[in-house]
Parts: sequence; C-alpha cells; structure tokens
Amino acid sequence: MSDLLQIDFSSVQEPRIVGIDLGTTNSLVAFMDLTGPRIIPGPDGGNLVPSVVSRPASGELVVGNAARDLLTSVPERTAYSVKRLMGRGAADVQEELRLFPFRITSDSDSVIHLELGGKVFTPPELSAFMLRQLKQNAESYLGESVSRAVITVPAYFNDAQRQATRDAGRIAGLEVVRLVNEPTAAALAYGLDKRKQGVVAVYDLGGGTFDISILRLHDGIFEVLATNGDTHLGGDDIDNRLLRIALEDIQSEWGEDVSTSAEAVQLLRRAVIQAKESLSFAPATTLEFEYHGRHYRRELGRDLFDKLIADIVDRTLGPCRTCIRDAGVKVEEIDEVVLVGGSTRIPLVRNAVEALFRARPHTELNPDEVVALGAAIQAGILSGKVDNQLLLDVTPLSLGIETMGGGVTRLIQRNSTIPASATEVFTTAVEGQKNVLIHVLQGERELARDCRSLARFDLKDLEPTPAGMARIEVRFLIDANGILNVTARDMRTGREQGVEVKPSYGLTDEQVEAMIRESLEMAEADFKERQVREAQVEADRIRLAVEKAKQSEAYAALSGEEKQRIEAAAAALANTCHSGDHLAIRAAIEALDRATMSLAGKMMDTAVSAALRGTKI
Ligand code: ADP
Ligand code: MG
Repeated sequence: MSDLLQIDFSSVQEPRIVGIDLGTTNSLVAFMDLTGPRIIPGPDGGNLVPSVVSRPASGELVVGNAARDLLTSVPERTAYSVKRLMGRGAADVQEELRLFPFRITSDSDSVIHLELGGKVFTPPELSAFMLRQLKQNAESYLGESVSRAVITVPAYFNDAQRQATRDAGRIAGLEVVRLVNEPTAAALAYGLDKRKQGVVAVYDLGGGTFDISILRLHDGIFEVLATNGDTHLGGDDIDNRLLRIALEDIQSEWGEDVSTSAEAVQLLRRAVIQAKESLSFAPATTLEFEYHGRHYRRELGRDLFDKLIADIVDRTLGPCRTCIRDAGVKVEEIDEVVLVGGSTRIPLVRNAVEALFRARPHTELNPDEVVALGAAIQAGILSGKVDNQLLLDVTPLSLGIETMGGGVTRLIQRNSTIPASATEVFTTAVEGQKNVLIHVLQGERELARDCRSLARFDLKDLEPTPAGMARIEVRFLIDANGILNVTARDMRTGREQGVEVKPSYGLTDEQVEAMIRESLEMAEADFKERQVREAQVEADRIRLAVEKAKQSEAYAALSGEEKQRIEAAAAALANTCHSGDHLAIRAAIEALDRATMSLAGKMMDTAVSAALRGTKI
C-alpha cells in the first residue's frame, strides 16, 4: 500500500458545528471563527430572525421578517411563539391556546396541531422551518454545508420540551450535538468560565418570558444552582400596556374605536414597539400612527414610560429573590450578573437589576445575541476548536415514581445537576404480585395526582413472592441533554424493563403514544379541577380590585350607565364563580375586564394619563 493512501483526512473534514438560539420571539445562528464567536446575519443583513412562520395563500412558506410582516394581513396563516407549544400536550396549554389567532387542533388529547391555511403542522415541524432558515443563512454565509448544531433551551425545559427541540433539529436536517441551557450559554459568552470560581446570576427578560438562573462556577465548570421565572412576562406585556393606552387615547381623539380592526391594532403595535425600543437609547420619542388617512402623534418621555412599566419590571424581582433563596446563596455572594434578552436594554430594568443584586450587570454584549454567541462557543468546545470544558446543567423539577397510596418517591431532586442518576430499591405491596406498574412523575407535589405524569410501564412476570419480599431496583438516568431514561429490574430474575421518556406530541412509537394518552386521561379530572380553582382565584382577585376601584375618584366620575355596566358584570361574575365551569368563569372575568377597561385606564395614574393626553403636537 502506498503511503498516500494512509493519510487520514477525517480530522480535516470534521464538519463545523453552529450554535443556535431558538427563541420565542427571535432566533439567531452563530459560529466560532478564529477570533471568537460571531453572529451570522440573514440575507437582509439583520442578526435576529423573528421566530415567525407564515403560509400565505400562494402556498410558499415564509420565515422571519417576511413572515412577521404577514402577521397583519394573514394572522390566521401566521404562527409565532411556537416555542411555548414545544413538547407540550393539548391539555398542558389550554389557556395558552386561547391567545393564538391561528387555528390549533388536536387529534387526540396529547397532540397539538397548528393549522396554517388548510395545512396542519406540529410545533417541532414549525420550529424546523425556523432552523432550516438559520441553517440556510449559515450555509450561504460560510459557503459550506452545515449539518450539526448546538441548540439552546430554557433551563426549565422538561424532557418532552427538550425532545421536541431535538426533533425539530432532526426534521430540519441538523444533528443536534448538544442542547445547552440558555443561562449557561450566556455565561460562556461573557467568558465567565475563565474565572477560577464564583456565582453568576443570569437575568433574561425577552419578548414573552422571564427567566432567572443562578450558576456556580468552579474550575471552568458551570453548575446551575437554581432557576425561576415567569412564562408570561416580557416585552409583550410592555407593548400591550402601551397599546391599550394608545387605543383609548386614539378613541378619545378620533371618536373611533380602532381596536376592532386587527390591521389597525397590528400597525399600532408596531409603532408602540418602535417607540419603546427607541426609549432605551433616547430620553424621549414620538409615537406615530397612521390609519385610513388619519394621523396620530404623541410625545413620550422616558419618565412617563418608566412609570407606566414600573409594575411589570417589579414582577421580575419576586422570582429573583426566590431563585437566590433556592440556590442557597446570599446576594453578596453573587459575583457577576449577566443581562440577557432584548428587554434588558430598558434602563429601568438595568437599574432594578443593579439595585436587587447590588452589582453592576454585564451589558457589553448585545443582550439578544449573548445566548447564540455562547451556543457557538459550546459548539467550538465540542468540535475541539476550543479547549475542552465540561458543562453541567440542572434538572428544573424533581423526578420520581408513584408509590403505594398515590404518593411520590423522588429519585432525583429538582435543581440536581445533570447528567444525574439515582437508584432505589422498592418492593411489592401484594402477595404473589406478578406485575408492577412503574409510573414516572415530574413535579414537587406530594401526591402523584398533583404531579406531571411522564410515562408508565409494567415490569412483568415477577416471581410470585409474599408481599414485601420482591426487590425491584428502579434506576433514573438523565443524560447531558436532559433526556430521562428509567429502568426497573427484578433483582431475583434480573428481568428488566425500561422507557426513555418521550414527549406528549407527534409520537411515532405507538406503544409510548398509548402510554401517554392513558396518563393524560388520568390527569384530566385533576386538570379540570385545577382550571376551575385557578379561574376562581382570578375571579376573586378581579372582584376585589373592582371593589377597591369603586372607592376612587375616577369611578365617582363615571356616568351612571357605565357604573351600571360594571355592577352588572361584577354581579354576573359573582354568580358564575361557583358554577364549576372554568370557561364560564373566564368569560365572566373577561366581561368584567371589558366593562372596567376605561375605568382602569383612568385609574392607572391620573397624573400619567393627564400627561399623556396633554402633550398634543
Ligand atoms: P426571546 O428571547 O423571547 O426570543 P429577545 O431576547 O429577542 O426575545 O427579546 C425580544 C424583546 O426585546 C421584544 O419584546 C423586543 O421589543 C425587546 N427589545 C428589543 N430591543 C429593545 C430595546 N432597545 N428596548 C426595549 N426592548 C427591546
Ligand atoms: Mg431568549
């Protein structure tokens, strides 16, 4: 054999790995070049690709900016916030689903399908369109084919959500080499792994979600100590607040309620977002809106803006305190604070974070790019371009199995670092028992019925023994990607059964599908009960608020007719509150909400609305 034939090209041909931040609002792709991580721009030059997928009547699928533009004209054919639906069953997201304008169908209790213009897609398929676009952007920028990626996920993502993300990658033709927690990626982007040791807080306020994570670093290793947050808190709340005020203001100026036009609302939303974003850099801005030949203009100063959003920013602080407590650290022990998410550009947010953590947060990198940059660094580590490094993540919820009497035995505690494993030996409860059901659960509640059911399987053909004599070893293993494997072994016969926990959507394995459907059916009654209770709590809250509002000057100033409307809606809510029908309660809450809308607007801050109304140009 000639020498030439023995040359090994494999190390030269090692395919590149890109880093992807698959966000709720925006997605990005980055890669590691010789100098460090770099964002790959799209064909239009922008770094952010809006996480929006649309299927206009022409049939051609559109992604990103072009799709976002279609939110106005074809909302029923345009999907956004798909990340919220990833790896979740229809029953998990009832409330969520009501907020989407596009049609969502579920052919069984467990499978979510989104209908866009007559064609049906699962959330991983829609995310795959996003990934395919990012892959394509990377390929045309790098001039080579890209088939491997590191993708980031929120630290709180459970097994099913992680699986769904991997599936999305697979559908898009990407091998997902590793899933990395977003806060870990952010810390990497700031090179905090270079520290010998320390504690890092990552505060992530994006478009629709808020996440706070606390990591510990030792010898270049990241360990997530705790996570917390609010899945419905972010820039969207600020947009909605401004939108509502602007709509009322326009109504009083034009004598026309433009909120009935979806198109007008979308246009105004755009204007409001633009105003919000420029206020992060300028002390004042102008809100401009044009509709059917009419113009609306308002000056908006940062002081007023800060007042309007103060309570939204405040809502991030509770989860931060809880997270610090869960992490078992004192505020003084936190060495570094990292800001992530576009909404952390807002000066008020930065100040609030600085005050709470008593440390100046890192803001050197663009907050909406940090996660993707960190993903690229992790990709570099995995492809050997960066010195090797071990990254530890955490499982956000406890995992265990159901035991006698509907209790739960936890094998892996929440906030355990992964990869993790645990083994415990159980026994049978009944004389001569042949089969044992292993019911895998996730959650912090004491009773199995209050936890999330992940999977169930039978360990069959046990050797008949008196009760309490069989020995069954149950082993939980979470791999580096956060995917859970459960096995049960009869220690007498060595017979073993296991399951890799699969998500509750788009299932391919029929056996697992049946298993999960069964478990969801079981959970159905509980779920209904919880929905009713949640609706009742909400109803109590709003009724109390209305009672309080009735003491205000703003209420006294309302017309008799308006007061009557509020009274009637409040009475209707009181009536339905104990009906046990959560949909009826929700409807009554909404009716009361509508009836008090203008009152709420007037009350928000009398000085504030005066200021807003007074600054005509
Ligand atoms: P996600 O992680 O949810 O995908 P991002 O981190 O990209 O989202 O954040 C998107 C949010 O950041 C949007 O609500 C957007 O309006 C907001 N945002 C972006 N730039 C600014 C800015 N300059 N000032 C205030 N908010 C901003
Ligand atoms: Mg994000």
